[in-house]
This record gives sequence, structure tokens and C-alpha cells, in this order.
Amino acid sequence: MSASQNVFVAGAGLIGLCTAYSLARAGHRVTMIDKDEVGSGAARGNAGEITPIQVTPMPQPEQLKEIFRGITSNRHYLGIAPLAAPMLTAFGTGFIYNTLPSNVRRNTQNLDQLVRGAFAAFDSYHADGISLAGGGYGFLNTHTSVDALRAFRDEQAARAEMLGQETPGQIMLDGDLHDFEPVLDKHVRAGFLAPTERYIDPSLFVDEVHAKLTELGVEILEHTELVGITNNHATLRTDQGQTTRGFDKAVVATGAWTTSAIAGLAEAKKAHVTSGTGYSYHVQPDRLPGHLLASIDRKTIGVPMSGTLRVVGLMDFSTKIEQFSKQRIDHLASQASAFIQGIADKPRFDEWTGPRPMTPTGLPIISPMKTNPNVIVATGHNMHGLSLGPVTAEVVVSMVEGKPGVVAGSQIDMRPFAL
Ligand SMILES: Cc1cc2nc3c(=O)[nH]c(=O)nc-3n(C[C@H](O)[C@H](O)[C@H](O)COP(=O)(O)OP(=O)(O)OC[C@H]3O[C@@H](n4cnc5c(N)ncnc54)[C@H](O)[C@@H]3O)c2cc1C
Repeated sequence: MSASQNVFVAGAGLIGLCTAYSLARAGHRVTMIDKDEVGSGAARGNAGEITPIQVTPMPQPEQLKEIFRGITSNRHYLGIAPLAAPMLTAFGTGFIYNTLPSNVRRNTQNLDQLVRGAFAAFDSYHADGISLAGGGYGFLNTHTSVDALRAFRDEQAARAEMLGQETPGQIMLDGDLHDFEPVLDKHVRAGFLAPTERYIDPSLFVDEVHAKLTELGVEILEHTELVGITNNHATLRTDQGQTTRGFDKAVVATGAWTTSAIAGLAEAKKAHVTSGTGYSYHVQPDRLPGHLLASIDRKTIGVPMSGTLRVVGLMDFSTKIEQFSKQRIDHLASQASAFIQGIADKPRFDEWTGPRPMTPTGLPIISPMKTNPNVIVATGHNMHGLSLGPVTAEVVVSMVEGKPGVVAGSQIDMRPFAL
């Protein structure tokens, strides 16, 4: 074991919680803070997918036409507020550059270095007694176009093979599909089951990790905001005023707020972490689906979770990090009702919005700061912060201990994740 260090973790979202846990079980003394409460960012209301096959960078060539539709319509899964355009210039330019096929290939290979260790990292948490409850196994991916689903399945099958996972099932059509999953709307023509992908209730996971941290004696300070950081101390703000904290190492895991959290530092300009807001809500249908249901054409997901159905989707870029729009969640509900029967007239509850920390490459940033090498930034996990939380945490522990990052038995190249 490496010598125990005092490590300060800012942000108690999925990445901060996992990082604090992996550090504490490795024997380090950890203090974790959050400006609000544990799990108050994008951690609790997300889709709960742990899906190595689907963890790929968001910038892809087909996104270019989606960007146009996102600016011109608010009845599209992507919503880009015209007023946000000036703020999004650097992010957007980088994003468009990363849709070039050669960049997509490179970014995917780089991300796969982490993806390969995703399930094993969760298994190690589970072995420590952290339950991965509230969900199940198997994504039923569906489409109204048979050809489009065939193309999607081919890509998924190639990724399953590359990751050494079970090949997705064959495509089921019309009657066969509706016999397999009766809650699907009749317009859904084709579907296939990806059996190895799993989903959990992320809110239960947050509570489980939180409880483990308490058990391990981690100091957790809520309503405590990071307002400044140097190479050996952090400046914090609470209702009582400002204080400072010394540390051996610090981890900034402030999700979509990272650019503002490190605003005083030169590297803030390089972070370009931008909020991509998503929504979810719950309904109680008469019959729950047997698996997670994904509409690939509507970019909407229905997750049977802890006895209810969580509907998840949308990606909005606006001038604010967190913004709730009734019009947008109504749009999400109309998309869900178009592919899942029996939910349109059910009351919605637990409406939620959360900010995905988006980066122009689609890759997370896991990197010491050049100007403050004791400060490690771990953020920008885009749509994949749950899938990649525990594996990211393991890499951060290596960084804290000055060792190379090893995932799935191989040393990984950290340069693609540098600031
Ligand atoms: C609708 C939706 C669906 C999603 N579905 C999935 C999914 O199925 N699978 C998956 O892998 N990922 C999913 N994600 C993405 C995932 O939720 C994020 O990638 C993940 O939450 C990012 O973790 P994080 O710790 O970086 O940020 P967060 O979880 O947002 O946590 C950041 C924390 O930092 C705190 N903070 C911010 N600034 C400060 C400060 N200055 N001082 C102190 N604390 C601060 C915040 O209060 C917050 O608690 C989804 C996201 C959304 C929105």
C-alpha cells in the first residue's frame, strides 16, 4: 500500500463519490465537499445505464444535421438555445472538429481504454458490499425502421466482440417483437436485446456509496463550495463565511460546473466543460417492461427502476448550467408515449433535470493541472459518468499515488484525458 495522504475531493456527484470511495479503501484520508448535497448534480435522476457497448464519444458525423435541428426546433431531442451560441463557440467548434471520421476513430479507441474496465470496477465495488440494485440486465433497443436498426445492431455487435461481451440477440420484427415485449407501441417495427448491458437505480447507488464513505470515516461537508484552489490549499465558502483547507492532493470533480470552479486558474480556458441538460420523470404503468427499453429513433429510454418506470432523454444547451423547462419535459413525455403503451394518461412524478458535463471530444478529463500538479481534475464524463465512475476512480487513485493508470490489466495512455 502507498503512504496514506490527505486527499480533498470537491464535488459529491458520481465521480466525486466513486473517487472518494476508491481513495478511502486504498487507505487515504479523504475529505469530500459539495456546494449542495451529496448527489445533487446529474447523479441521481439519470438512466442508470452501465453499458460498455454504448459508451462512445458523442461527436459523430451524423450529429451535424442534429445540431441544425436542435437550433431550429424545440421539438427535437437536442435543444440549443440561440442565446447560448456565443458561449458555445469554443465547445461547438471543437465538437464539430471531433465529428471528422478520423477523430471519431481516435477518440473511440482512447475512450475504450477506460470502457474495458467498467464492469470489473463495478464488480469490485459490489464485492465490497455496495449493492447495485433497483434495475436489471438487458437493453431492448428498438426502432420504427428495420434498416436503421440493422445498421445500429451491426455497430453494437462489433463493439460487443471487441469488448469480449456476448453478441446482441437477433432482430425481432413486428408480431415477434410485440409478443416478446407487449408494452411496445405497434408502430415500433424492430428490436433486439443486448443481454449483457445492465441498469441500476443510480439514486440507490449514490446512497450506498455515501453510506460506505461514512463507515470508512470520510469527512463529508455539504453546503460547502470550492471557490479557489492552489497547489496545497482550497478556499471554501459556507453560510458561515470563507475558510481554507490544506491537502496533499486534491481532486476537482465538479461535473458541469468545473469550468467555473477552476475559473481563477489558467487551465479553466482549456476545460470547456459545458452543460448538456437532460430530463427524467417517473410513471406507474399498469405493466412494467421486462427490460430497459430504448427507442433509438426517438432517443428516449424507459427504465423499469425500483418498481416504477423512469423515462429519460433530451440534451439541451442553454445559457444556464441547470434549467428546467416544462415545454421540454412535455416533449420528452410525448416521445415516450409514442413508443411505450399505457403511460400517456398516467400522472408524472419525480420530474428531474440534471447537467451532463459535456466536452468537445466526448472524452473525460482526468488530469493533474500543469500549474498545480497536486490538483487533479476528474470531470467531463458526458453521458457516461455512471458507467465510467468506478473505473475513473481507480485511475485517479493511481494518479494520487504517482503510479501509472492500469485498466483491465494494461497500462493506459493518459494523454488523451489531459487538460
Ligand atoms: C438525463 C441524463 C441521463 C443520464 N444517463 C446516464 C446513464 O444511463 N449512464 C451513465 O453512465 N451516465 C448517464 N448520465 C451522465 C451522468 O449522470 C454524468 O456523466 C455524471 O453524473 C457526471 O458525474 P460528475 O460527478 O462529473 O457530475 P455530477 O454528478 O453532476 O456531480 C457534480 C457535483 O459537484 C458539485 N459541485 C459543483 N460545483 C461545486 C463547487 N464549486 N464546490 C463544491 N461542489 C460543487 C455539484 O453540486 C454536484 O453534486 C446521464 C445524465 C443525464 C442528465
